[in-house]
Amino acid sequence: MGKRHQRMILPSEVVEAAKRNEKENMRFRSYLKRVADADVLDQQFMALHREIFPRYNCAKCRNCCKLMHAEIPEEDIERDAVCLGMTKQEFIASHLKQVDGEWQEIHQPCGFLDANGDCILGENRPESCKKFPYTDQPERLFSLFSFLNAVSVCPAAYEICERLKQLYGFGRYRKRHDDTERFDNQAPGFSFVAGYTSWGFPYGVPEASEEQKDQEADEELPF
Ligand code: SF4
Ligand code: SF4
Repeated sequence: MGKRHQRMILPSEVVEAAKRNEKENMRFRSYLKRVADADVLDQQFMALHREIFPRYNCAKCRNCCKLMHAEIPEEDIERDAVCLGMTKQEFIASHLKQVDGEWQEIHQPCGFLDANGDCILGENRPESCKKFPYTDQPERLFSLFSFLNAVSVCPAAYEICERLKQLYGFGRYRKRHDDTERFDNQAPGFSFVAGYTSWGFPYGVPEASEEQKDQEADEELPF
């Protein structure tokens, strides 16, 4: 059976599968930082995005809306309130809280997700929601924490990650290094979050500190 007909992970399976892979995925991130060319990686992401996304029906998944909290840019609040027939104050009181200076939708699933799986904000939904999981966006090499965040809830991103591992021969690399593993996911500087936040990771996947995110382009994690 060719790759096109291989079974893809289901939306209902991805959280547990990503949780099982979390250490490996962090190691793969470090591996990519060492070996990948940024432009080539972007092309690979784009090709996989185009191949894999059509095989998922986002309307029947909505893991991103169910498991993460949307961030609403300050400049969108007035417009979104009008869209829902509310005053700005009513909108904030019923939907938002500030987390690290950003406005975040408070409900889980997202309070803008309707029973049909549609976003009631329509085209007013945040850009971050429109672009999620960012697998067709440039400069992926410098946003790998964000990518792993997406892998933890999005089946399409999960499949893209697994295919990238194959492309880069990460399975063979991992085997060679299994005996000498010294990756420690409790390394100083990592915090672990329970549950979900807007950019947080479900369960125990390490969340990068702001400083680490700033240094993403040139830092290396230990293996
Ligand atoms: S704002 Fe809309 S698209 Fe974004 S998480 Fe909420 S329901 Fe989903
Ligand atoms: S972007 Fe990913 S998580 Fe969101 S609905 Fe589509 S397949 Fe599901």
